[in-house]
Amino acid sequence: FNTARFGQHILKNPATAQKIVDAANLKPTDKVMEVGPGTGNLTVKILEKAKHVTAIEMDPRMAAEVIKRVQGTPEQRKLEVVIGDFVKVDMPYFEVCISNTPYQISSPLIFRLLSHRPLFRVAILMFQREFALRLVARPGTALWSRLSANVQLYAKVDNIINVSRNDFRPPPQVESSVIRLVPIDPPPPVKFEEFDGLNRIIFSRPNKTVRGNFQAKGVMKMLEQNRKTWLAMQEMMDDGKAINVLVDEVLAENEVTENRAAKMDIDDLLKCVVSFP
Ligand code: SAM
Repeated sequence: FNTARFGQHILKNPATAQKIVDAANLKPTDKVMEVGPGTGNLTVKILEKAKHVTAIEMDPRMAAEVIKRVQGTPEQRKLEVVIGDFVKVDMPYFEVCISNTPYQISSPLIFRLLSHRPLFRVAILMFQREFALRLVARPGTALWSRLSANVQLYAKVDNIINVSRNDFRPPPQVESSVIRLVPIDPPPPVKFEEFDGLNRIIFSRPNKTVRGNFQAKGVMKMLEQNRKTWLAMQEMMDDGKAINVLVDEVLAENEVTENRAAKMDIDDLLKCVVSFP
């Protein structure tokens, strides 16, 4: 197998596989989406507990393997295998997502899940340890970052299992962690692009004040451009106020001027984002 291309590290420790599946608390009525089933070590354990599994696998040889594994068993009719790249295929309906995928698709995986509707109940996901720690980081700690904020706007995330590289064949370079992700229902009424846009600005230098980051040259230019476009769309006249004065007014109104991204929690960030039209 070309393990580099598909990031194929098979989970060989059955106890760890069982812990991952148990963490999903599957019900007999659940429809599960599994991403990257590989040879099916998690898949067979999911099939024991759930009503149906749609497994999305990019490598046709792996897909064949997992299909072969359940052939002739009562579980066979509960499994559908979709051959394709998770990042490109349409997602099925599911209540629970379980995935041990290569770390190249960590970000697209998590953001595709968060924007998916209807909301699912829970996702149990294996990631590289560092990535997992950034996902669950809290404000004021060293790993609190744009990624943490963007994800925690929409979901509650916990690091639930530390997985050793020796649980895999072949062992990857890095240690792994399994996280549990529970979408916040209903999701906050904020456009992801706007929240992320703000975070891009203020997490660019997280220990500088919000005002300091906004006053950076490139940022002001971009905001001015956005404002011109917005005014034109609304067919409104420019009131001639300089953009940096406007930004200062908005930040001051929301009392976030002197905050630093490194210490701002989701509510502080939300206050900041809703104040920009
Ligand atoms: N889940 C299995 C396990 O725990 O033993 C296999 C894990 S292996 C790290 C990742 C699997 O994801 C491989 O079977 C690989 O072919 C598949 N894969 C890689 N990229 C993918 C993608 N973009 N979409 C779907 N599957 C992918």
